[in-house]
Amino acid sequence: MNDPPVRSVRLAIVGSGPAGLTAALYAARANLAPLVLSGVPAGGQLTLTSEVENFPGFPEGIQGPELIERMRQQAAKFGTTFLDDNVRSVDLSRRPFVLVTGSMGTVHAEAVIVATGANARWLDLPNEQRLRGKGVSACATCDGFFFKGREIVVVGGGDSAMEEALFLTKFATRVTVVHRRPQLRASSILQGRAREHPKIHFVLDADIVDVLGAESVEGIVVRERKAAAPRTIPAQGLFVAIGHDPATEVFRHALEVDSHGYLKTTEITHTNVPGVFAAGDVYDHRYRQAVTAAGLGCMAALDAQKYLEESPAPAPSGT
Ligand code: NAP
Repeated sequence: MNDPPVRSVRLAIVGSGPAGLTAALYAARANLAPLVLSGVPAGGQLTLTSEVENFPGFPEGIQGPELIERMRQQAAKFGTTFLDDNVRSVDLSRRPFVLVTGSMGTVHAEAVIVATGANARWLDLPNEQRLRGKGVSACATCDGFFFKGREIVVVGGGDSAMEEALFLTKFATRVTVVHRRPQLRASSILQGRAREHPKIHFVLDADIVDVLGAESVEGIVVRERKAAAPRTIPAQGLFVAIGHDPATEVFRHALEVDSHGYLKTTEITHTNVPGVFAAGDVYDHRYRQAVTAAGLGCMAALDAQKYLEESPAPAPSGT
Protein backbone atom coordinates (compact mmCIF):
# COMPACT_ATOMS: atom_id res chain seq x y z
CA MET A 1 0.00 0.00 0.00
CA ASN A 2 1.27 3.51 -0.84
CA ASP A 3 2.07 5.87 2.01
CA PRO A 4 -0.33 8.82 2.16
CA PRO A 5 1.18 11.85 0.39
CA VAL A 6 2.98 14.64 2.26
CA ARG A 7 2.45 18.11 0.83
CA SER A 8 4.64 21.02 1.88
CA VAL A 9 3.13 24.48 1.65
CA ARG A 10 3.96 27.91 2.95
CA LEU A 11 0.46 28.54 4.30
CA ALA A 12 -2.29 26.09 5.21
CA ILE A 13 -5.76 27.42 5.99
CA VAL A 14 -8.09 25.14 7.92
CA GLY A 15 -11.74 25.87 7.20
CA SER A 16 -13.61 27.14 4.15
CA GLY A 17 -16.27 29.53 5.41
CA PRO A 18 -15.99 33.28 4.76
CA ALA A 19 -12.99 33.60 7.12
CA GLY A 20 -10.96 30.81 5.51
CA LEU A 21 -11.82 31.75 1.94
CA THR A 22 -11.09 35.45 2.44
CA ALA A 23 -7.78 34.52 4.07
CA ALA A 24 -7.09 32.32 1.03
CA LEU A 25 -7.92 35.14 -1.40
CA TYR A 26 -5.54 37.57 0.28
CA ALA A 27 -2.79 35.00 0.72
CA ALA A 28 -3.09 33.83 -2.88
CA ARG A 29 -2.83 37.40 -4.14
CA ALA A 30 0.33 37.74 -2.02
CA ASN A 31 1.80 34.75 -3.94
CA LEU A 32 1.71 32.43 -0.94
CA ALA A 33 -0.11 29.69 -2.92
CA PRO A 34 -2.21 28.72 0.11
CA LEU A 35 -3.71 25.30 0.62
CA VAL A 36 -7.21 25.27 2.08
CA LEU A 37 -8.21 22.21 4.06
CA SER A 38 -11.88 22.69 3.44
CA GLY A 39 -13.44 20.35 5.96
CA VAL A 40 -16.31 18.06 5.08
CA PRO A 41 -18.90 19.32 4.47
CA ALA A 42 -17.05 22.36 3.11
CA GLY A 43 -18.21 25.96 3.33
CA GLY A 44 -19.29 26.41 6.94
CA GLN A 45 -22.52 27.82 8.31
CA LEU A 46 -23.37 29.91 5.24
CA THR A 47 -23.96 26.74 3.24
CA LEU A 48 -26.85 26.02 5.62
CA THR A 49 -28.38 29.46 5.13
CA SER A 50 -30.82 30.44 2.42
CA GLU A 51 -31.09 34.13 1.55
CA VAL A 52 -28.25 36.41 2.72
CA GLU A 53 -29.27 40.06 2.54
CA ASN A 54 -26.61 41.67 4.70
CA PHE A 55 -23.41 40.85 2.84
CA PRO A 56 -22.29 44.10 1.19
CA GLY A 57 -22.26 44.14 -2.58
CA PHE A 58 -25.40 42.09 -3.13
CA PRO A 59 -28.32 44.56 -2.98
CA GLU A 60 -30.67 41.92 -4.35
CA GLY A 61 -29.47 39.33 -1.78
CA ILE A 62 -27.66 36.09 -2.47
CA GLN A 63 -28.12 32.48 -1.40
CA GLY A 64 -25.59 31.41 1.27
CA PRO A 65 -24.20 28.44 -0.73
CA GLU A 66 -23.77 30.63 -3.82
CA LEU A 67 -21.90 33.27 -1.82
CA ILE A 68 -19.51 30.61 -0.55
CA GLU A 69 -19.05 29.12 -4.03
CA ARG A 70 -18.18 32.57 -5.41
CA MET A 71 -15.66 33.16 -2.62
CA ARG A 72 -14.11 29.79 -3.36
CA GLN A 73 -13.85 30.55 -7.08
CA GLN A 74 -12.29 33.93 -6.35
CA ALA A 75 -9.68 32.34 -4.07
CA ALA A 76 -8.96 29.60 -6.65
CA LYS A 77 -8.54 32.17 -9.44
CA PHE A 78 -5.45 33.57 -7.72
CA GLY A 79 -3.80 30.22 -6.97
CA THR A 80 -5.46 28.68 -3.91
CA THR A 81 -5.65 24.90 -3.93
CA PHE A 82 -8.18 22.89 -1.94
CA LEU A 83 -8.15 19.59 -0.11
CA ASP A 84 -11.72 18.59 0.67
CA ASP A 85 -10.96 16.69 3.82
CA ASN A 86 -11.05 17.14 7.58
CA VAL A 87 -7.98 17.66 9.73
CA ARG A 88 -7.77 14.75 12.18
CA SER A 89 -4.75 15.78 14.24
CA VAL A 90 -2.07 18.46 14.37
CA ASP A 91 1.45 18.94 15.66
CA LEU A 92 2.08 22.65 16.17
CA SER A 93 5.03 22.19 18.50
CA ARG A 94 7.62 22.90 15.80
CA ARG A 95 7.92 24.13 12.22
CA PRO A 96 6.96 23.03 9.74
CA PHE A 97 3.59 22.55 11.42
CA VAL A 98 2.01 19.18 10.71
CA LEU A 99 -1.66 18.69 9.82
CA VAL A 100 -2.88 15.15 9.32
CA THR A 101 -6.04 14.78 7.24
CA GLY A 102 -8.58 11.98 7.30
CA SER A 103 -7.73 10.35 3.98
CA MET A 104 -5.72 12.80 1.89
CA GLY A 105 -2.35 12.59 3.57
CA THR A 106 -0.31 14.98 5.67
CA VAL A 107 0.36 18.67 5.16
CA HIS A 108 3.52 20.42 6.31
CA ALA A 109 3.03 24.19 6.57
CA GLU A 110 5.28 27.08 7.54
CA ALA A 111 2.25 28.99 8.80
CA VAL A 112 -1.34 28.03 9.58
CA ILE A 113 -4.61 29.95 9.78
CA VAL A 114 -7.32 28.24 11.81
CA ALA A 115 -10.73 29.25 10.49
CA THR A 116 -12.85 26.31 11.52
CA GLY A 117 -15.75 28.39 12.83
CA ALA A 118 -18.39 27.49 15.37
CA ASN A 119 -21.61 25.56 15.06
CA ALA A 120 -24.92 26.69 16.48
CA ARG A 121 -26.44 24.19 18.88
CA TRP A 122 -29.81 22.82 17.85
CA LEU A 123 -32.60 21.14 19.76
CA ASP A 124 -32.19 18.15 17.43
CA LEU A 125 -35.88 17.68 16.81
CA PRO A 126 -36.63 16.15 13.37
CA ASN A 127 -39.04 18.93 12.32
CA GLU A 128 -36.69 21.64 13.59
CA GLN A 129 -34.03 20.31 11.22
CA ARG A 130 -36.50 19.89 8.33
CA LEU A 131 -37.69 23.51 8.67
CA ARG A 132 -34.26 25.14 8.97
CA GLY A 133 -34.26 28.10 6.57
CA LYS A 134 -38.07 27.85 6.40
CA GLY A 135 -38.79 29.65 9.64
CA VAL A 136 -36.20 27.97 11.88
CA SER A 137 -33.01 29.97 12.34
CA ALA A 138 -30.10 30.35 14.73
CA CYS A 139 -29.30 33.97 13.80
CA ALA A 140 -31.68 36.84 14.44
CA THR A 141 -29.31 39.39 12.89
CA CYS A 142 -29.30 37.35 9.68
CA ASP A 143 -32.95 36.39 9.44
CA GLY A 144 -35.00 38.66 11.69
CA PHE A 145 -35.90 40.93 8.79
CA PHE A 146 -37.92 38.13 7.18
CA PHE A 147 -40.33 38.07 10.14
CA LYS A 148 -41.99 41.47 9.87
CA GLY A 149 -45.46 41.33 11.43
CA ARG A 150 -45.00 37.67 12.49
CA GLU A 151 -45.04 35.85 15.81
CA ILE A 152 -41.78 34.28 16.93
CA VAL A 153 -40.57 31.84 19.55
CA VAL A 154 -37.01 32.10 20.86
CA VAL A 155 -35.60 29.13 22.77
CA GLY A 156 -32.86 29.56 25.36
CA GLY A 157 -32.32 31.32 28.66
CA GLY A 158 -28.88 32.88 28.19
CA ASP A 159 -27.68 36.30 27.04
CA SER A 160 -27.94 35.30 23.38
CA ALA A 161 -31.60 34.37 23.78
CA MET A 162 -32.35 37.72 25.46
CA GLU A 163 -30.45 39.65 22.79
CA GLU A 164 -32.15 37.76 19.99
CA ALA A 165 -35.57 38.27 21.56
CA LEU A 166 -34.96 42.00 22.02
CA PHE A 167 -33.66 42.36 18.46
CA LEU A 168 -36.62 40.45 17.04
CA THR A 169 -39.12 42.86 18.63
CA LYS A 170 -38.15 45.27 15.83
CA PHE A 171 -39.97 43.00 13.39
CA ALA A 172 -42.28 40.63 15.24
CA THR A 173 -45.66 41.40 16.77
CA ARG A 174 -44.97 38.98 19.65
CA VAL A 175 -41.86 37.16 20.85
CA THR A 176 -42.19 34.22 23.24
CA VAL A 177 -39.05 33.07 25.02
CA VAL A 178 -39.18 29.38 25.97
CA HIS A 179 -36.62 28.19 28.50
CA ARG A 180 -36.15 24.74 30.01
CA ARG A 181 -35.66 25.90 33.63
CA PRO A 182 -37.65 28.22 35.91
CA GLN A 183 -34.68 30.63 36.13
CA LEU A 184 -33.00 32.38 33.22
CA ARG A 185 -29.24 32.15 32.91
CA ALA A 186 -28.90 35.58 31.27
CA SER A 187 -27.28 38.59 32.97
CA SER A 188 -29.71 40.62 35.05
CA ILE A 189 -29.42 43.66 32.78
CA LEU A 190 -30.50 41.76 29.66
CA GLN A 191 -33.14 39.81 31.57
CA GLY A 192 -34.53 43.08 32.90
CA ARG A 193 -34.72 44.61 29.44
CA ALA A 194 -36.45 41.54 28.04
CA ARG A 195 -38.89 41.24 30.93
CA GLU A 196 -39.89 44.89 30.63
CA HIS A 197 -40.46 44.73 26.88
CA PRO A 198 -44.20 44.72 26.08
CA LYS A 199 -43.77 42.39 23.08
CA ILE A 200 -41.75 39.73 24.94
CA HIS A 201 -43.46 36.93 26.88
CA PHE A 202 -41.89 34.04 28.78
CA VAL A 203 -42.77 30.36 29.02
CA LEU A 204 -40.39 28.98 31.64
CA ASP A 205 -39.73 25.47 32.90
CA ALA A 206 -40.81 24.18 29.51
CA ASP A 207 -39.37 22.12 26.67
CA ILE A 208 -40.04 22.50 22.99
CA VAL A 209 -41.12 19.08 21.80
CA ASP A 210 -42.08 19.72 18.17
CA VAL A 211 -42.18 22.29 15.40
CA LEU A 212 -45.33 22.29 13.28
CA GLY A 213 -45.66 23.22 9.61
CA ALA A 214 -45.48 21.54 6.22
CA GLU A 215 -43.53 24.08 4.13
CA SER A 216 -42.82 26.68 6.82
CA VAL A 217 -43.18 27.05 10.57
CA GLU A 218 -46.78 27.33 11.78
CA GLY A 219 -46.53 26.56 15.48
CA ILE A 220 -44.27 25.44 18.30
CA VAL A 221 -45.35 22.64 20.62
CA VAL A 222 -44.20 23.13 24.22
CA ARG A 223 -44.48 20.91 27.22
CA GLU A 224 -44.57 22.88 30.45
CA ARG A 225 -43.43 20.75 33.33
CA LYS A 226 -46.35 21.72 35.50
CA ALA A 227 -48.99 21.31 32.79
CA ALA A 228 -50.87 18.11 32.08
CA ALA A 229 -50.55 18.19 28.29
CA PRO A 230 -48.40 19.91 25.65
CA ARG A 231 -49.76 23.03 23.98
CA THR A 232 -49.05 24.83 20.73
CA ILE A 233 -47.81 28.41 20.55
CA PRO A 234 -48.81 29.90 17.18
CA ALA A 235 -45.61 31.19 15.53
CA GLN A 236 -44.09 31.55 12.09
CA GLY A 237 -40.53 31.61 13.34
CA LEU A 238 -38.35 29.66 15.78
CA PHE A 239 -35.00 31.16 16.76
CA VAL A 240 -32.74 28.68 18.49
CA ALA A 241 -30.37 30.51 20.87
CA ILE A 242 -28.97 27.74 23.05
CA GLY A 243 -25.30 28.47 22.45
CA HIS A 244 -22.55 27.67 19.95
CA ASP A 245 -19.74 25.12 19.94
CA PRO A 246 -16.45 26.27 18.45
CA ALA A 247 -14.91 23.68 16.13
CA THR A 248 -11.62 23.48 18.00
CA GLU A 249 -11.44 19.81 19.08
CA VAL A 250 -8.29 18.96 17.11
CA PHE A 251 -6.50 22.13 18.25
CA ARG A 252 -7.28 22.04 21.97
CA HIS A 253 -4.11 20.24 22.99
CA ALA A 254 -1.99 22.51 20.80
CA LEU A 255 -3.45 26.00 21.20
CA GLU A 256 -4.83 27.96 24.14
CA VAL A 257 -8.61 28.04 24.34
CA ASP A 258 -10.99 29.79 26.73
CA SER A 259 -13.43 28.05 29.08
CA HIS A 260 -15.96 27.66 26.23
CA GLY A 261 -13.37 26.17 23.83
CA TYR A 262 -12.88 29.29 21.66
CA LEU A 263 -9.29 29.97 20.57
CA LYS A 264 -7.57 32.65 22.62
CA THR A 265 -5.83 35.33 20.60
CA THR A 266 -3.78 38.48 21.05
CA GLU A 267 -3.35 41.30 18.52
CA ILE A 268 -6.68 40.07 17.09
CA THR A 269 -5.42 37.07 15.07
CA HIS A 270 -2.35 35.71 16.89
CA THR A 271 -2.75 32.45 18.78
CA ASN A 272 -0.25 31.52 21.50
CA VAL A 273 1.88 29.68 18.89
CA PRO A 274 3.87 32.05 16.65
CA GLY A 275 2.98 31.30 13.03
CA VAL A 276 -0.49 30.01 13.84
CA PHE A 277 -3.31 32.51 13.38
CA ALA A 278 -7.05 32.41 14.00
CA ALA A 279 -9.83 33.92 11.90
CA GLY A 280 -13.60 34.12 12.24
CA ASP A 281 -16.05 32.49 14.63
CA VAL A 282 -13.45 30.04 15.94
CA TYR A 283 -12.47 32.82 18.32
CA ASP A 284 -15.00 35.60 17.68
CA HIS A 285 -18.08 34.65 19.68
CA ARG A 286 -19.32 38.19 19.76
CA TYR A 287 -20.11 39.30 16.22
CA ARG A 288 -20.45 35.98 14.33
CA GLN A 289 -21.33 37.54 10.97
CA ALA A 290 -20.19 36.49 7.52
CA VAL A 291 -18.80 39.93 6.87
CA THR A 292 -16.88 40.11 10.16
CA ALA A 293 -15.52 36.60 9.59
CA ALA A 294 -14.38 37.69 6.12
CA GLY A 295 -12.70 40.77 7.61
CA LEU A 296 -10.92 38.67 10.21
CA GLY A 297 -9.81 36.27 7.46
CA CYS A 298 -8.22 39.19 5.64
CA MET A 299 -6.43 40.27 8.83
CA ALA A 300 -5.15 36.76 9.51
CA ALA A 301 -3.78 36.49 5.97
CA LEU A 302 -1.96 39.81 6.25
CA ASP A 303 -0.52 38.76 9.62
CA ALA A 304 0.55 35.36 8.24
CA GLN A 305 2.20 37.08 5.27
CA LYS A 306 4.16 39.37 7.59
CA TYR A 307 5.15 36.42 9.76
CA LEU A 308 6.42 34.44 6.76
CA GLU A 309 8.45 37.41 5.55
CA GLU A 310 10.03 37.91 8.96
CA SER A 311 10.46 34.22 9.91
CA PRO A 312 12.00 32.30 7.03
CA ALA A 313 11.42 28.55 6.86
CA PRO A 314 13.74 26.51 9.10
CA ALA A 315 16.37 24.34 7.38
CA PRO A 316 15.17 20.76 6.84
CA SER A 317 16.12 18.53 9.78
CA GLY A 318 19.39 16.57 9.38
CA THR A 319 21.24 19.40 7.54
P1 NAP B 1 -25.23 30.11 27.17
O1 NAP B 1 -24.92 31.19 28.14
O2 NAP B 1 -24.50 28.83 27.24
O3 NAP B 1 -26.80 29.83 27.30
C1 NAP B 1 -27.40 28.80 26.58
C2 NAP B 1 -28.83 28.69 27.04
O4 NAP B 1 -29.46 27.67 26.27
C3 NAP B 1 -28.96 28.28 28.50
O5 NAP B 1 -30.05 28.97 29.08
C4 NAP B 1 -29.22 26.78 28.42
O6 NAP B 1 -30.07 26.31 29.45
C5 NAP B 1 -29.99 26.67 27.13
N1 NAP B 1 -29.78 25.37 26.50
C6 NAP B 1 -28.60 24.75 26.21
N2 NAP B 1 -28.82 23.58 25.61
C7 NAP B 1 -30.17 23.46 25.51
C8 NAP B 1 -31.02 22.46 24.98
N3 NAP B 1 -30.53 21.36 24.39
N4 NAP B 1 -32.36 22.65 25.05
C9 NAP B 1 -32.87 23.78 25.61
N5 NAP B 1 -32.12 24.76 26.13
C10 NAP B 1 -30.78 24.60 26.08
O7 NAP B 1 -25.06 30.60 25.64
P2 NAP B 1 -25.23 32.06 25.02
O8 NAP B 1 -26.46 32.70 25.50
O9 NAP B 1 -25.06 31.90 23.55
O10 NAP B 1 -23.99 32.86 25.60
C11 NAP B 1 -22.66 32.37 25.41
C12 NAP B 1 -21.68 33.33 26.09
O11 NAP B 1 -21.70 34.59 25.40
C13 NAP B 1 -22.06 33.64 27.54
O12 NAP B 1 -20.89 33.77 28.30
C14 NAP B 1 -22.80 34.94 27.45
O13 NAP B 1 -22.76 35.69 28.63
C15 NAP B 1 -22.05 35.62 26.30
N6 NAP B 1 -22.94 36.59 25.63
C16 NAP B 1 -22.94 37.87 26.08
C17 NAP B 1 -23.78 38.80 25.51
C18 NAP B 1 -23.78 40.20 26.02
O14 NAP B 1 -23.21 40.44 27.06
N7 NAP B 1 -24.41 41.16 25.37
C19 NAP B 1 -24.62 38.46 24.44
C20 NAP B 1 -24.60 37.14 24.00
C21 NAP B 1 -23.76 36.20 24.62
P3 NAP B 1 -29.57 26.26 30.98
O15 NAP B 1 -29.63 27.67 31.47
O16 NAP B 1 -30.57 25.34 31.60
O17 NAP B 1 -28.19 25.68 30.95
